[in-house]
Amino acid sequence: MAARLPTTPHAPGALRLVGATLVDGTGAPPRADSEVELRDGVVTYAGPRRPPAAGIPVADLTGTWLLPGFVDTHVHLSMVPTAPEEQRGRFPEEDVLEVAEVLRSTLHAGVTTARDLDGLTPGYRNAVARGTVTGPRLHLAIAMLSPTGGHADPVRPNGSLPAWAVRSGMPEPGVVDTDDDIVRTVRALLRTGADAIKVSTSGGVGSPTDDPDDVGITEEQVRLVVRLVRERGGRPVTAHALTDAAARAAVLGGASSIEHGYALSDETIALMVERGTVLVPTLSTLLRELDPATASEERLRHRAALHERGLDSVRRAVAAGVPVALGTDAGVHPHGRNLAELARLVQVGLSPLAAVTAGTLQGARLLGLEARLGSVEPGKEGDLVITRVDPLTDVGALADAASVRAVLQSGRVVKDLDGLVTTAS
Ligand SMILES: [Zn+2]
Repeated sequence: MAARLPTTPHAPGALRLVGATLVDGTGAPPRADSEVELRDGVVTYAGPRRPPAAGIPVADLTGTWLLPGFVDTHVHLSMVPTAPEEQRGRFPEEDVLEVAEVLRSTLHAGVTTARDLDGLTPGYRNAVARGTVTGPRLHLAIAMLSPTGGHADPVRPNGSLPAWAVRSGMPEPGVVDTDDDIVRTVRALLRTGADAIKVSTSGGVGSPTDDPDDVGITEEQVRLVVRLVRERGGRPVTAHALTDAAARAAVLGGASSIEHGYALSDETIALMVERGTVLVPTLSTLLRELDPATASEERLRHRAALHERGLDSVRRAVAAGVPVALGTDAGVHPHGRNLAELARLVQVGLSPLAAVTAGTLQGARLLGLEARLGSVEPGKEGDLVITRVDPLTDVGALADAASVRAVLQSGRVVKDLDGLVTTAS
């Protein structure tokens, strides 16, 4: 089974969007005074403006920039900070409706497709596909794999669970130690509808009993996971990897991408270039600031050192030509500010145009959906973002969801603050 395109309801009929400067996601230079035509939610034309056609409504987008809907390849949409005491008193519906609001705010930030890499169950994907709630079309890892006591294991030393792990509707953690555990867990995830498999080849931050330097899933085990997904039609395998050894194990084991990658050696970077392994650096989360009022001097110093090391690693990877896709780790980072990552990508050496491509076509490629998503070209879904911000001179301004003036998903208008598209005539 090849990558599944998560569908969303299509807008029927034809529509022409004219006059915007088109940045189409392929890396091609912007096209002023463009025209994009949609029919039944699919792009049928993108190029210079043509003479009007009788019977096709036109939306005049003069003064705006038109971009593809963005793809955030690393989110945790079920992760919403809640005080432990409040969490214990909640009804399941409160958790579900809170996630629905996160879905909406992520879509309104310009993200029309998102890959949730741990925590979100397929019911949300199905509800978005059906149009019950508005949100990004979803690809899901469902749960992440790590050994007992590793990054996927939420159990505290005394056997209790932290508040975030007791939210209703959370999937079973993917705790695996033996090869048999891996075979059973990967097959169960595929049966439940996983679109990707995530392994943790290092320890993590925020999991109760491990350390970033710990060994997680090994190279041989990554190879086993890759073989298991190939036996079932193939899916991307991605690895949370904070150390160089963990990244190397993932690359050699055949993972399609590395999440974070803050300590890559030049040797591992060369291997990634050779194999086309994608880096998802989640810089928004790396560079989030601690509150100086509550964090100790020592933590702040440690944090600053981590920022420098991480930035240096990602900069060297970018300079060497490792393909980069946009991912935010939203959930750890606040939801609804996903496009803040664009300016972070520019900070590590991408041009603003390349950052847009990392956030659109490159993300779609990583999900295996580049034939249908990621750029504004004929045959692609009508997933579009309209803004008054010039993304090539002021990409940082897109961090604010209010700068995203309108969003279309398969041609359906899901946000339109200025009535730009809804008034088409
Ligand atoms: Zn994550």
